[in-house]
Amino acid sequence: MRILILCDLEGTAGVVDFKTQTYDGGRDNEQAKYLATLEINALIDGAMEGGATDPIVLDGHGSGGINIEHIHREARVIFGRPRGSAWEMGLTFEAQFLYGHHAMENTPDGVLCHSWSSRSIANCWLNDELIGEIGFNIAHAGEVGVPTVFVSGDRAAVDEARRYVPDIEGVVVKEGLSRTAALSLSPTKARDLIQEGARKAMGRIGEIAPYTIPSPYIFATEYQSADSAEARAAREDVERVDTHTVKITGDTIAEISKKRR
Ligand SMILES: [Zn+2]
Repeated sequence: MRILILCDLEGTAGVVDFKTQTYDGGRDNEQAKYLATLEINALIDGAMEGGATDPIVLDGHGSGGINIEHIHREARVIFGRPRGSAWEMGLTFEAQFLYGHHAMENTPDGVLCHSWSSRSIANCWLNDELIGEIGFNIAHAGEVGVPTVFVSGDRAAVDEARRYVPDIEGVVVKEGLSRTAALSLSPTKARDLIQEGARKAMGRIGEIAPYTIPSPYIFATEYQSADSAEARAAREDVERVDTHTVKITGDTIAEISKKRR
């Protein structure tokens, strides 16, 4: 029973700041990664209690979000860049777990909310609907027939996931007070809840349908600066929409994912 654990760093208990915690080289970045790794290990313990036998961890945080030294001994880990998506590796997965995710940019009280890049992107749309990493990752898995059964993060992240998968097993580890402040569980309590949630999520496999969005796809990206949009539009598969916005088209989410790299 192989599962994919797609990991980010912004949705970890105790993590609320970009500069000191989630950006590479930040003063507390190593501590944040360690806290995330312990939560991921709890997730793996719970999933294995629920029947998972081959947990594969994909480190999806841009600059790296796990501490490899401390990762669960039964996990195999995909990390480093450049790389394709998990769905391009020729492996099959029974389910996707979204660990430590964050809401899309401009979400009220979304802790560390952003859409792919906190430093350059303002908004993203898929077929005219605002979308962030949570929705995109759920749809990407759904396209290859894989259900997303678990999400952890702040309240806004779990709410966002439930828009796509109402029955998803969601673990809220902090309540946003602003984009960079939260009322957080202690790391040890968060681990307990994540372990329990992951065990329960294994029981949802077969109950939760893979989520899909009808094709074809238009993916639009509004940048914070016109310069970024101009640079991006220099690529031949990218079309300029207005000063700050570009779009790409594709018949599959996988194609959109490739063109966005
Ligand atoms: Zn991240």
